[in-house]
Amino acid sequence: VIEVATADTYDVLVLGGGVAGCVLADGLSADPSRRVALVEAGPDYGPGLDGWPADALDARKLPRSDVWEYGGQPAAIRGRVIGGSSAINGCWHTWGSAGDFAEWAARGGARWSMESLEPHRRRAAEAMRLRSVPDDELSPWGSASLEAAARLGFPETADMSGAGSDRCAGRPPLNAVGDLRWNAAFAYLDPARPRPNLSILSGTTVDRLVIEGSSATSVEVVTTTGRRNLRANRYVLTAGTYGTPCILLRSGVGPPGELRAVGVRPLVELPGVGRNLADHPGLTLALAPTPALNAALLDRERGHGFYNSQVALKTGSSRCDPGSWDLHLLPTAGFALFGSLPPGEYEVGITAFLMKPRSRGHVVLRSIDPEAPPQIEPCSLTDAGGHDLEVLREGLELARELAASEPLRRWARPARFSYSEAWARERVGSYWHPVGTCAMGPDGDPDAVADGRGRLHGVDNVVIADASLIPSIPRANTQLPVLALAHAVAELLAGE
Ligand SMILES: Cc1cc2nc3c(=O)[nH]c(=O)nc-3n(C[C@H](O)[C@H](O)[C@H](O)COP(=O)(O)OP(=O)(O)OC[C@H]3O[C@@H](n4cnc5c(N)ncnc54)[C@H](O)[C@@H]3O)c2cc1C
Repeated sequence: VIEVATADTYDVLVLGGGVAGCVLADGLSADPSRRVALVEAGPDYGPGLDGWPADALDARKLPRSDVWEYGGQPAAIRGRVIGGSSAINGCWHTWGSAGDFAEWAARGGARWSMESLEPHRRRAAEAMRLRSVPDDELSPWGSASLEAAARLGFPETADMSGAGSDRCAGRPPLNAVGDLRWNAAFAYLDPARPRPNLSILSGTTVDRLVIEGSSATSVEVVTTTGRRNLRANRYVLTAGTYGTPCILLRSGVGPPGELRAVGVRPLVELPGVGRNLADHPGLTLALAPTPALNAALLDRERGHGFYNSQVALKTGSSRCDPGSWDLHLLPTAGFALFGSLPPGEYEVGITAFLMKPRSRGHVVLRSIDPEAPPQIEPCSLTDAGGHDLEVLREGLELARELAASEPLRRWARPARFSYSEAWARERVGSYWHPVGTCAMGPDGDPDAVADGRGRLHGVDNVVIADASLIPSIPRANTQLPVLALAHAVAELLAGE
């Protein structure tokens, strides 16, 4: 068949304009002979800063405009805008352990080892302009947290995004230029926008891939003017951990019973689509700030560098492998995460996050409407042995020790609460790091959705290149690992 080039025909369609999508669009359009289109459901505010809403640019807050609410679950919020979740997130970067990436390599080959990923990590860190919080931007709470950590035997490390040690405190690098959230669209897309071979189709929701035989022949999208089909030789899925499996399920790729239940004809049986959802669950010890802390924070708010989270502690619980870590502790002080507080009042607390959870959740379609939120079940703290609950309980104990130490007691007092399993299950929150719903793994493995190059099993010309491809959650904030993964897949595709 000779493909006739029309306005809607490309060499590659990158489906989802978030963190990974921006990397892929840039990497693939670098070859001027390759026609690339980046398709995004949300708006495109670029190039430059002028068109962007102020809240998306302010790295000190978590914006709530341009998000997928996914049924109102706070843990399921995702960016819906060119730049994706990097336009609404906490701007923090850390990196996993060699063991985390060895798990990826066991599923997808040596290209996923820590050593092989290192050049991609470095490129991403440079493009995202990562920098650590300097002394003059540390809030009194940030400084006191470092002091308290040191007293508890957590030395400050200079590089939280490097492999680091297993028991340390530090200031994770931020993608903030001054107070500006330097999102993936600024980092990757703005330099690529002038290329005539790159199109950006914003306000365009991907419904489904049209699969005929063993290939995708087009993608059906919805815009304000109706439905249409876009064609390409290759389709790269970068709609994120919730978006990518939903596109595949609507396309007839997934567990057959589940597809039939919502009226989708099963075309490719892949039981792993939407399964294996992993996230970092967290429990917060709420603290009551002293008037002196509120006053000091108000003073910072009027200046700049006012990030809620400036400091993290990394440590291993009693169940962790020696030399590694399975907990992050975040002493935070700043704007309320949900809702708002009167001017001059701030939310203060210490959250323990479980960085190597065993529980797994799932994403299931409720309807074939691409705007209908799927059912997202994180299933936090549900692992059979109770490992996750126990590690988080230890993390919370450590949070209490930290809060009780003199440098922090000066600024805030623990709010009344007594720990119980019921309390933990009711209050468990998320670090917003979902991964794994279209995991890589060898052909023939029933849980694997794509191979180690991101190629969808059972369909020739579809590649997955976002957080959903990650087979096991790294003990790190996920943006940097996703950026590195996207660089790796872009390099593989560019070389083909
Ligand atoms: C509130 C919040 C705070 C976070 N804080 C941090 C942090 O401080 N540090 C860190 O490392 N990580 C953080 N993360 C996680 C980080 O942002 C993600 O790991 C990363 O963005 C994943 O990249 P992605 O490309 O897979 O998905 P995304 O960046 O979410 O991009 C997916 C894109 O696909 C689009 N899309 C989805 N479905 C469709 C469709 N059907 N049609 C068209 N387009 C579609 C979306 O609109 C979005 O633009 C945070 C996330 C959130 C939500």
